[in-house]
Amino acid sequence: MNQAKEHVKCLIIGSGPAGYTAAIYAARADLKPVMYEGIQPGGQLMETTEVDNFPGYPQGVEGPKMMEDLKAQAVRFETDVRSGWVTKVDFTGPKHYIEIDQGKHALTADAVIISTGASAKWLGLPNETRLREMAGGVSACAVCDGFFYRNQEVAIVGGGDTAAEEATYLAKLCKKVYMIVRGDTLRASKAMQHRVMNTPNIELLKNTRTLDILGETGVEGVRLQNTLENREFDIAVTGFFVAIGHKPNTDVFKPWLKMDEQGYIINVPGSAKTDIPGVFVCGDAADKVYRQAVTAAGTGCMAALDAERYLATAGIH
Ligand code: NDP
Repeated sequence: MNQAKEHVKCLIIGSGPAGYTAAIYAARADLKPVMYEGIQPGGQLMETTEVDNFPGYPQGVEGPKMMEDLKAQAVRFETDVRSGWVTKVDFTGPKHYIEIDQGKHALTADAVIISTGASAKWLGLPNETRLREMAGGVSACAVCDGFFYRNQEVAIVGGGDTAAEEATYLAKLCKKVYMIVRGDTLRASKAMQHRVMNTPNIELLKNTRTLDILGETGVEGVRLQNTLENREFDIAVTGFFVAIGHKPNTDVFKPWLKMDEQGYIINVPGSAKTDIPGVFVCGDAADKVYRQAVTAAGTGCMAALDAERYLATAGIH
């Protein structure tokens, strides 16, 4: 086991809605949690504008403001929030070793709550980044942002289950949805494919590559290329959704925890427990299906309650 100068009862890694909720519960249970915020303090919600679907905000709330509120609530109960990025762990146990910022600091913890989230993958087009940063109609979450495009025409890129699910979600709100698939087939399950095919206002564009997003201050259209015919064409849309997958931020835990082939940590069903005693997971690091702030917060609560019970059973006070 590696040596560390500091020992804490409960360490929380990552600071999205899952991490802050875990912190609020852990702090109120007197676990004296220490949280490392990670590379993107506040998580994915720092990149969104209006959050209209988190219960308790009748007028909606800006993503960064919501994260500020969650942090303030965690700090009010004396969560020790620190900046830093976990670069190595050793879960040999029973005390878990965690190294911060390539060894600048190291500590051990009796209970570790992983809430490192996931990052949406993007196409990498310059106008995609520019318009996304200025909240100009580019999004990776139809459930979060679809509402803003009611009765408008939008495009979504991707052919997996997420894209199919989001396309059908958007089709209920929008006049028309172009679903842009780079290959000849959809990767989505047969059931989801049928749903897409049976939705009249989804136009499926297979063998189609996105070349550029058009518009100065907001999305006005998309430049596409049919790769079979080598033909370029434009479509007029006001919203551009990307659903080409997420990457869970779990690489550092790979040698230790059971994960699926995409790197999502596998929790014991109905709990936040991992296969290592004293290590818990919550939020998008273990969830590729729901990925909502409210579900992340819910599993954050579960992780703190599971950690509290674990510590009590182990006689750690
Ligand atoms: P997937 O990896 O399954 O699909 C990604 C899609 O994006 C593929 O169609 C892929 O194309 C396409 N793609 C990837 N990179 C690019 C690119 N650069 N340009 C254009 N297209 C690109 O991701 P999902 O998020 O859809 O799903 C992840 C996992 O979560 C899957 O296992 C899925 O089944 C699961 N899931 C389950 C749900 C449920 O059960 N309700 C809901 C949502 C997801 P190509 O096929 O050509 O590689």
